[in-house]
Amino acid sequence: MIELPVEWVLAVPLFAGLILLFAGAVYYAWRWDAGRADHGRPFIYQCSACGRVYLNRRQIPMLSCPRCGNLNPAARR
Ligand SMILES: [Zn+2]
Repeated sequence: MIELPVEWVLAVPLFAGLILLFAGAVYYAWRWDAGRADHGRPFIYQCSACGRVYLNRRQIPMLSCPRCGNLNPAARR
């Protein structure tokens, strides 16, 4: 069996977590930049059930209402 220093029991999960956190931050920053570069203006949706108006920057033709969950088409860009 391989002998490991006692500190590694704490250090290895800590560094693995930090690496995962960093990778996640890079991934979401990249996605956010890509979304902004391709679609500067958001889609506008109006809920047909509760009337709430909401925006989304991703190109999704149908999006559920954040208030009541009803699926609505994009009104305009
Ligand atoms: Zn709604």
